[in-house]
Amino acid sequence: MKPVMVVVLVDALGWTLAGREPGFAPALPERRALATVLGFSTGALPTAFTGRTSSEHGRWLMYARARGHGVFRGFGALRLLPRRVRESARLTRLLDRLVAGRGVHGYFNLYEVPRGELPAFDLPERDDIFKPGGLPCDSIWDALERRGVPWRGWNWRTPEAEARAQALAELSGGRLDFLFLYSAVLDARLHHEGSHGAGVRASVSEWSAWFDAAAAAAARAGREPWLYLCSDHGMVDVRVTVDVMARIDALPFRRGRDYLAFYDSTMARFWWRDPAAREAIRNALAAEPRGRWLSREDLEREGAAFADARFGDDVFLLEPGALLLPSFMGHAPVAAMHGYDPSHPDMAGILAANRPLPAGVTHLAHLRPFLERELDAALGAGTRRVGAAS
Ligand SMILES: [Zn+2]
Repeated sequence: MKPVMVVVLVDALGWTLAGREPGFAPALPERRALATVLGFSTGALPTAFTGRTSSEHGRWLMYARARGHGVFRGFGALRLLPRRVRESARLTRLLDRLVAGRGVHGYFNLYEVPRGELPAFDLPERDDIFKPGGLPCDSIWDALERRGVPWRGWNWRTPEAEARAQALAELSGGRLDFLFLYSAVLDARLHHEGSHGAGVRASVSEWSAWFDAAAAAAARAGREPWLYLCSDHGMVDVRVTVDVMARIDALPFRRGRDYLAFYDSTMARFWWRDPAAREAIRNALAAEPRGRWLSREDLEREGAAFADARFGDDVFLLEPGALLLPSFMGHAPVAAMHGYDPSHPDMAGILAANRPLPAGVTHLAHLRPFLERELDAALGAGTRRVGAAS
């Protein structure tokens, strides 16, 4: 039987979360923790798909500093609107459409980034990262195209239930050699409910059972199912909120004039204009016990050091379980968060399969080369591979 590869990436499915579910994914007996990267899915997914670090592929966090005119050019005038209008859902919908119309085909969210401050920033993800040519460097999707592999992928653009059903139909049809499914449903439920939520448990057991259905569908088409479940990071339950912005706003320096700042859920990032502001802010946050300034060495070790400081001259990171509140992501607390030090046990993702997992595959960056070696084996086991260019 010629194998068919089925790769499912469930965003935020942590190793500890999966381990808590009795009888999790019986179709996938080989399993282990997969170490993640510092940051969020905007950097982690490109690492999974390219096998490279953020500083190599250029993607780390959703918002970077604008160089020249970014996608938010002209948005500065929004600061003149009355606050009620500026913070309205209606204006956000309008701005969403405007940004998409300016050529942003990737995932973005304006969250609660102050509308008038948007022109200082830009969205590095412009293309569909789940497609060939969608990333700044060679990805697994480019490799599939080059090799002429019949494949199909689903991502957040398709509702999860539809994607699952379509994938099962494709498997029964037997036409494809490689299927890829990405879902962000569990990630959203985890943020909302925390790791012990009912919706979270339902999501984990649905995926657990789906692999049995996938194996059966492949077998109906006379194909041997090679099944893989992976994730880009785990999730940490929020224990405490930290008002970083209050500490900064109490200082005699003004955002936008003396420094630029971007407040993610777990990080505060700064670009300095006035050295006095830098010194005062660095001292003020050094007094915050629930976080620390990342050194150049920290960022280099995490593969997130950028020579042009596009993601910040200095980055302050909260400890696992602490949530920056308010932040540019929102003013309402969430139950769980990621984007912490990758060494925290709940931050690790998972790799599970019904195939042997080589000892060296332990980190998210190992996923792409591992899957390509599996593809070699799968194609070698069936027909000859077509036109491998590299
Ligand atoms: Zn998330």
